[in-house]
Amino acid sequence: MITTKDLTKVYSARGREVSALRGVDLHVREGEVYGVVGTSGAGKSTLIRCVNLLERPTSGTVTVDGVELTSLRGGEHRGGRELRAARRSIGMVFQHFNLLSSRTVRENVELPLELAGLGRTERRRKAGELLELVGLGDRAGAYPSKLSGGQKQRVGIARALAGDPKVLLSDEATSALDPETTRSILALLRDLNRQLGLTVLLITHEMEVIKSVCDSAALMRDGRIVESGTVADLLATEGSELARELFPLGEAPARPDGTILEITFQGDSAGRPFISQLARTYQIDLNILGAAVETIGGRQVGRMRVALPGRHQDNVVPIGYLREQGLQVDVLDPITDLSAAGPSTTDLANGAVA
Ligand code: ADP
Repeated sequence: MITTKDLTKVYSARGREVSALRGVDLHVREGEVYGVVGTSGAGKSTLIRCVNLLERPTSGTVTVDGVELTSLRGGEHRGGRELRAARRSIGMVFQHFNLLSSRTVRENVELPLELAGLGRTERRRKAGELLELVGLGDRAGAYPSKLSGGQKQRVGIARALAGDPKVLLSDEATSALDPETTRSILALLRDLNRQLGLTVLLITHEMEVIKSVCDSAALMRDGRIVESGTVADLLATEGSELARELFPLGEAPARPDGTILEITFQGDSAGRPFISQLARTYQIDLNILGAAVETIGGRQVGRMRVALPGRHQDNVVPIGYLREQGLQVDVLDPITDLSAAGPSTTDLANGAVA
């Protein structure tokens, strides 16, 4: 539904050039909620603004719903009209709502319909419907100053839906809201995604947002996407940074006794008592150091950190057993890592260092 190919954006500010995007390939499938996460300055806002051409990319292409937007020029000629029409199929919500304070809630929602040339009766009807959809049917005549932050964002969402878009872009829509309001706005986005089949691309700096609503996610750093995929695929990817951040287990102990395993489980494997089976089958006394389990999209997923006695090479068989169960296992062997500077005499004596 949304594809960017090798997207770059270079800003020139006060004689200095800033590369905000350095070759971004993004692929958002129809009907999914896709989250882009990253720290401040990673290029998230630039990316989302390039998707609806609020910002012209320096190079690369943007295709939304089969239309290559980057091939359409702005202005008053035919290409400009096509671009405006294509942009109407993309709604956008903003962190600070961007409502006009001099207009009522209804008039704010009517604004894009006015610009599209709709008559007064039709505009009123449509705005009324949209306000019902976002749960604000009874506040149509109020001014934005009388609304809470969550209500303002609902108006922002209703306005974004005025052009019956297929795609909704959300630029940190919940960053200015408290946790409870954040949850209700995310639930609304999820409902709209399901009810209307709306594809949602959101950017955020909060892992919680990714965890609670996203089907897929990408991690951005320094103008690049460094990891991306469905949340399930990311969890199954060895060493995935996003999976670690989605299911934080805290710091691993610096000098543990033994080998630490970080086990990721989801779907069928989540329901099996693999820890007790492992302990019984191999007569191991294992120690659980941390666990994070959640339900995402109705499936149980999570991570667990356990310590096995002995070193990595002593635990090859039980680790193999866990992997055979379909579990993702990352092995941390701090003893080996600590001795990486030079093998100990015992290693040499045991022939453990090849
Ligand atoms: P994020 O949304 O992840 O915080 P941005 O896309 O806002 O990141 O910014 C990416 C980089 O581009 C930053 O270094 C930022 O300073 C720079 N940048 C963003 N907008 C502009 C602009 N209009 N002019 C110059 N530099 C900009």
